[in-house]
Amino acid sequence: MKQTSKNIAIVGSGLVGSLLAIYLRRLGHTITVFDRRPDIRTIEFSGRSINLAMSNRGWRALSEIGIEDEVKKIAIPMEKRALHVIGKPMYFQNYGKAGEAIWSISRGVLNRKMIDLAENAGVEFKFEEKVWDVDLPEAKLHTGASEKGEWKEYSYDLIFGCDGAFSRVRHKMQRRSRFDYSQDFLDVGYKELTIPANADGSHKLAPNAFHIWPRGRFMFIAMPNIDGTFTCTLFMPFEGPNSFESIKTKEQAKHFFSTNFPSVNHEIENLAEDFFKNPTSAMVTMKCYPWTYWDKVALVGDAAHAIVPFYGQGMNAGFEDIFVLNEIIKKQVDDWEAIFQHYQTQRKPNADAIAELSYRNFIEMSSKTADPKFLLQKKIEKRFADQHPDKWIPLYSRVTFSYRPYAEALSIGDKQEKIMETVMELPDIEQKWDSDEVEQLILSLL
Ligand SMILES: Cc1cc2nc3c(=O)[nH]c(=O)nc-3n(C[C@H](O)[C@H](O)[C@H](O)COP(=O)(O)OP(=O)(O)OC[C@H]3O[C@@H](n4cnc5c(N)ncnc54)[C@H](O)[C@@H]3O)c2cc1C
Repeated sequence: MKQTSKNIAIVGSGLVGSLLAIYLRRLGHTITVFDRRPDIRTIEFSGRSINLAMSNRGWRALSEIGIEDEVKKIAIPMEKRALHVIGKPMYFQNYGKAGEAIWSISRGVLNRKMIDLAENAGVEFKFEEKVWDVDLPEAKLHTGASEKGEWKEYSYDLIFGCDGAFSRVRHKMQRRSRFDYSQDFLDVGYKELTIPANADGSHKLAPNAFHIWPRGRFMFIAMPNIDGTFTCTLFMPFEGPNSFESIKTKEQAKHFFSTNFPSVNHEIENLAEDFFKNPTSAMVTMKCYPWTYWDKVALVGDAAHAIVPFYGQGMNAGFEDIFVLNEIIKKQVDDWEAIFQHYQTQRKPNADAIAELSYRNFIEMSSKTADPKFLLQKKIEKRFADQHPDKWIPLYSRVTFSYRPYAEALSIGDKQEKIMETVMELPDIEQKWDSDEVEQLILSLL
């Protein structure tokens, strides 16, 4: 059954807002997207070019509207981690089974593409128009150049808040009674840096890998771009030893990089320069509830659930919100109140679960990937999963390569971790990790 056409506003032309615009336009609605920023297609990218890892949940949302193949042209598959541990040669660790990969894609390039696709589908964009206030029961937006200046008023049938972690739409919902809200900043910040391409345009590091230099309280990562460059991110505490605050001069930055990341020594000039040129940013987990107001307003993406980036799932989760919303629309058709109710009750536990998993994954990426005991545990899990694929799917694969709910991945992952704690306590596990005894023990504990 076809939905009755509505006049819908989307606040935010980021990845989530522009994808939602395409979905809703295809359902026959009139869509206007507001963004406070200028059109990203008209601006030169500055030193900050965040790279994202797109995985199965994200691809499914794109595939549903037939744009997966087009977007894959601007992405690079990474089927393994490349680990740079001090005192060891670089080694690889596959992410999943043969054929499974996460994909590196530039956030800016993807956003431009999505806005193009939305515009081609008939979506109207209003850039440089900031939303200051929302009348929730009337679905009205107030936009203007400044908070104190003159505002324009627009009326809609429905409004979607896709305006990111510090959402103005959510801010208005927060003033209601019984609206739950929490925001937690990490004491670790991040900075984007670049490794340029070789003169012939090829990559300086293995291109089909996600590179990690795990160093405990801090870590460095690098993801490939299609132009031969790598976008790198340094994650490090804001204050204390080995912190952003502790590096004040170019010499100190060079010393820091050459001591801790010797395998990128040849890039030291660039990295030290970027260190002072590019900003240091904070990371936040934001939770709230409810996500919707009557049949009028709904939050989607980071506006509803901002998470820290260590599982590479923020955008994927936002895209999955849209996929799920669309599935619910197919069933509920014109009952927007029911659509919004189902949407928020279905998505909220999953958003909380991926927030928890993402928070925990900093420790896994920055410390455990360099710990021989942890690597042995992963080897045992992989062997068992290969022998009994119906009985054991590793947590990373459940999150990244499956469509099962995040909440299920979290709870099964916790059970698997308990089993592995018992296995790792076996005497001489280093010698008998691939024995029948270990296999039988896991089977008995399942
Ligand atoms: C360092 C880092 C690495 C990440 N890595 C990954 C990864 O590997 N994989 C992954 O899936 N996710 C990753 N993420 C998360 C991902 O970037 C976000 O989840 C995603 O960009 C959220 O998209 P969004 O459209 O909901 O919000 P945003 O991208 O924040 O877009 C919000 C838009 O709303 C506009 N806006 C805001 N307020 C107003 C207003 N008042 N009026 C009008 N417009 C407004 C903004 O200008 C912006 O265009 C990462 C995030 C970070 C910080």
